[in-house]
Amino acid sequence: MRPEPCAVLFDLDGTLYPHRRFVLSGFASVAAHVERSWGVDASEAFALLARATRVGRGRELQALVHRFDLPAWLVPQLVEIIRAHEPRLRLPRVSARVLQALRPAWRTGIVTNGPPDIQARKVTALGLRSLVDTVVYAHATGRGLGKPDRAPFMDAARRLGVRAAQAVFVGDDPVADISGARRAGMCAVHLWRRHGADVRAACAADAVIESLDEVPSVAMALIDGRRAYVV
Ligand SMILES: [Mg+2]
Repeated sequence: MRPEPCAVLFDLDGTLYPHRRFVLSGFASVAAHVERSWGVDASEAFALLARATRVGRGRELQALVHRFDLPAWLVPQLVEIIRAHEPRLRLPRVSARVLQALRPAWRTGIVTNGPPDIQARKVTALGLRSLVDTVVYAHATGRGLGKPDRAPFMDAARRLGVRAAQAVFVGDDPVADISGARRAGMCAVHLWRRHGADVRAACAADAVIESLDEVPSVAMALIDGRRAYVV
């Protein structure tokens, strides 16, 4: 009898690529805009934004308008520029390597939170469409609650033709990814970045990894472990 099909699903931001690269890509668009429209040197604007993000995340644009004496009403416009820009992103080699390694034996997909239009531009920029079987935009699924709601996880399993119990989810967020996947009945693998989320929260995961390179062997072990309980 052929073994039941199984899947490995991934979160996008902070898992398949460093989210900071998207932030910096948005800042580059903002810097180009303030140079064009306000005569502020783009490289100075970019340097300030990149510095500001290290100290006061979420206040970078305010820091920019303050430093260059720009009107405060400009901030929402700059936010919109980041939201609408075509990101310049490169998929890390480890992500491409792992997705290609999984392809022959596993069905693969992405389940991502965030505005679907922005997330879709990231997926395109990273060249991920040809590397996975499906992409689920969690906020466009079910009641639109996003992860950790079960709906996007179940939608991904349905699209891939696998039971949730035969799916492994890999993500960096202990709540959205790990709790969500577990609630949906999937195995959950926490990708722990040394500078990322608190590892203590990862105790709910079935496995903790520090590199995506570990995914193929860990996923296999988890699914084999589950099968051992099925008579
Ligand atoms: Mg993430």
